[in-house]
Amino acid sequence: MTFQRTIKCSNCGHFNTNRDYCEHCGELINPKLKRELRDKKRVEDREEEERNRVKSNFELFIDRNRNHKNIFIRLFFQLLYGIWFIVMAIGAFIAWLFAAVAA
Ligand SMILES: [Zn+2]
Repeated sequence: MTFQRTIKCSNCGHFNTNRDYCEHCGELINPKLKRELRDKKRVEDREEEERNRVKSNFELFIDRNRNHKNIFIRLFFQLLYGIWFIVMAIGAFIAWLFAAVAA
């Protein structure tokens, strides 16, 4: 005897037996899969947020000092900005390279 797992679709109300997705409308109805998907999404969102925050803080910091009234500080940050730009370009190139190799 096999275990029959019947789940009611939260989207259309259709009763599905032993299915991860609704037979009627295609909605994901497996609660375990739903939770996994949500957790995965949450982790990705957090990582994305973290990346954006670090990047913008650093760039704001440089941008502020690039217009500093002291010429030496201004030159230093313009140099730093140039290095940052090159590092970003190299990073993008390496990412592209890995994508090209993997393909
Ligand atoms: Zn459905």
